Amino acid sequence: MVSKFNIPVIGEGTQSTNQRRHSYVDEGATVGFFTDPTVCIGCKACEVACKEWNDVPDDGYVWTGNSYDNTGHLGASTWRHVLFLEQDLQKGNQITGPVSLGNGDEGEDPFRWVFLSDVCKHCEEAGCLEACPTGSIVRTEVGSVLVQDDVCNGCGYCVVNCPFGVIDRRPKPLPNAGGAFKCTFCYDRQKSGLTPACAKVCPTESIVFGRLDDLRAQANERVRQLRESGYTDAQLYDPQDTSVGGLHAFFLLLGEPEPYGLPPKPEVPTIYLKSSWLAAAATAVGAIATVAFAFAFA
Ligand code: SF4
Ligand code: SF4
Ligand code: SF4
Repeated sequence: MVSKFNIPVIGEGTQSTNQRRHSYVDEGATVGFFTDPTVCIGCKACEVACKEWNDVPDDGYVWTGNSYDNTGHLGASTWRHVLFLEQDLQKGNQITGPVSLGNGDEGEDPFRWVFLSDVCKHCEEAGCLEACPTGSIVRTEVGSVLVQDDVCNGCGYCVVNCPFGVIDRRPKPLPNAGGAFKCTFCYDRQKSGLTPACAKVCPTESIVFGRLDDLRAQANERVRQLRESGYTDAQLYDPQDTSVGGLHAFFLLLGEPEPYGLPPKPEVPTIYLKSSWLAAAATAVGAIATVAFAFAFA
């Protein structure tokens, strides 16, 4: 697309779903995020916008030494995390080498740097929500998963039931320590017709906000384009065939999910409850039968 000043603009410019006002909450439309690392420049504007809008406290200025990643992972005070992944793999039709390693080998030396802005996945079947005993975690009109801080008692059941290690309790001495926190999907902004802060500021539209069905169609088209352009390992990460049932914040990946810290087959832990209870019941019945047998023949 070209602007009225005849300058090419990203995506649809001011008409993009990231910039337009909307009424998704009133309409009860299911919305989501599609995150595409092939256009992410690692600027971390999304991380900063999230902190600013939501008044999330800093959780330490730590230099991890792992690429340019100084946040490390999602947590109670990091609701967006831009992952910096360095791999000795080729990126699309990238021209590699010759780069000498000083060992006489002047051959190809592929290297790629991938940036992925990670976030709560707002799962279709959310382990955190299913495990919460107080009703603090709810599903909103737009399909997102929201923690109500004033209802959370800090028990931590949600923490161990998130298959992605997203939600966490905030440690002391930070404000509201003890409670569980994660991305709110900027529900407050969405209620006013605004785009979530992280998507609004993303300069390359690596994070796209919109109706979930539209995003899934857009993502499939993007994968097709990339594969045609030589990115043969491009694929979507949106596990719909497991008990998680799909993600409302899903990702395009280059390669397999593990290097991104994403489980290949995530499952909601509560699916194992039925078999656990059946096993416990069978054990109890067996124990009772054994005792009864012992008394009967004593
Ligand atoms: S990713 Fe984790 S915290 Fe987010 S909705 Fe799913 S289970 Fe809950
Ligand atoms: S949707 Fe809002 S709360 Fe969630 S990561 Fe983006 S800015 Fe932060
Ligand atoms: S997702 Fe967008 S805002 Fe975030 S680091 Fe990448 S380019 Fe920057």
